[in-house]
Amino acid sequence: MQQILGDMPAREFKKAGQMVIDWIAAYRDDIESYAVVPDVEPGWLYACSSKNPPESAASMEQIFEKFVQAIMPGVTHWNHPKFLAYFSISSSGPAILAELLAAALNVNGMLWKTCPALTELEKITLDWLRQMIGLPETFWGIVYDTASTSTFHAIAAARQEISPENIREKGLYGSKQLILYTSDQAHSSVEKAAIALGLGLKNVRKIKTDDEFRLRADLLRENIRKDRKKGHLPFCVVATVGTTSTTSIDPIAEISKICREENLWLHVDAAYGGSAAIVPEYQSVLNGCEEADSLVMNPHKWLFVPIDFSAFYTRKPSILKEAFTLVPEYLRTSEDHRVENLMDYGMQLGRRFRALKLWFVLHYFGRQGIISRIRNAIGMAQDLANKIDQHPDFERMAPTPFSTICFRVHPQGMNDTKKLNRLNEKLLQAVNKEGEYFISHTKLNDQYVIRIAIGNIQTDQHHMNRLWDILQKTLPMLYKND
Ligand SMILES: *Cc1c(COP(=O)(O)O)cnc(C)c1O
Repeated sequence: MQQILGDMPAREFKKAGQMVIDWIAAYRDDIESYAVVPDVEPGWLYACSSKNPPESAASMEQIFEKFVQAIMPGVTHWNHPKFLAYFSISSSGPAILAELLAAALNVNGMLWKTCPALTELEKITLDWLRQMIGLPETFWGIVYDTASTSTFHAIAAARQEISPENIREKGLYGSKQLILYTSDQAHSSVEKAAIALGLGLKNVRKIKTDDEFRLRADLLRENIRKDRKKGHLPFCVVATVGTTSTTSIDPIAEISKICREENLWLHVDAAYGGSAAIVPEYQSVLNGCEEADSLVMNPHKWLFVPIDFSAFYTRKPSILKEAFTLVPEYLRTSEDHRVENLMDYGMQLGRRFRALKLWFVLHYFGRQGIISRIRNAIGMAQDLANKIDQHPDFERMAPTPFSTICFRVHPQGMNDTKKLNRLNEKLLQAVNKEGEYFISHTKLNDQYVIRIAIGNIQTDQHHMNRLWDILQKTLPMLYKND
């Protein structure tokens, strides 16, 4: 029974908790009985939900029943092993339990003092992760929510470092035009950061890429020269290891050399690709990054940690701090001179206990267990890439350096781009309509490309074999209707 005041009683918490955990265990076990993408129309939940807030108390049984009946039908199952769209992600068992503990503790790590374990565990886990991906000791780490936020902070730090007339105090008024460089394949978060930081989209140079979708260093150099000539102030390059469309890898070492010569901040976006560097034979994907000023990789993408968790590293934490620190009297503590207060290193004050879930994941699987799982995903992608290469009617549209494959159907004799685009769009829709698998697409040089990203912890070779069968079987049916 509900009490008049106070929280849920311990006995009820225990009973309801068991019900929820039992349900989660069954959900994880039966996940393949769900269609990956729900069959609902926009506005569906508004239409069938109560318009008024709940007036009186309900039991956990009633609430849970509503969750299962009303909300679950609109859930997209990102944890499904046949979710192969965008970048597939995983919330692993140990991480789910760690999230529960983090919510139970409900600590706020704005200062060391407000939760010493949070601040210190964040340092420890990010240092372990730094070693695992092979970055040198000179890199200092902090956790943000997403890669978009990490990149925003990198660019803000870059601006602070170059800031000729102290932008922190005066804003951009009267400053030279600051120019940011990235590639035409870079993630949209780079441009969003330029909007949010007041740099302006027209001051972002999207440098052309080569035939393997890698930033062209020669054009970068040329653009910087032109901008200087115009009296602008080049200040930052965002390069990518594992771009979002094709997972291409920019020539980091070459770009880094240019950045050092030109005195530009180099930020590396390895949101997805960074996890591969944990596998010894793939550690070289981060070659050159040891010279970067900052780097982001997302454990919530390919490291079995539930969203959200982004790891941001920089060799210049003092500049990041210069850009953001602002301490009101009520947040001063007697330890300030001998601790790191994480609120000094970014926009946010409050900070949840995200490190706990990474700590659980790293302990549960161990570095070796993580290596095997990431290696397995890459292996399955290479296998599919080979099958595509050997099939007369399929064509790979980009190299496959990680676990994401870009390809299309290309029947012999059909060379009209529009026709091919339509055919591939139809194939994608036919596969997704079945509801068994969820795959996505991209466009490369105006060509419609099907994109399959392997990364869920449960995805196995038999899932990939069946998808390959479905793709081949669907193909002839499409010609018939065309
Ligand atoms: C996914 C991705 C991002 C954005 O990640 P969020 O954490 O969702 O902000 C940025 N860059 C690359 C290369 C990505 O793949």
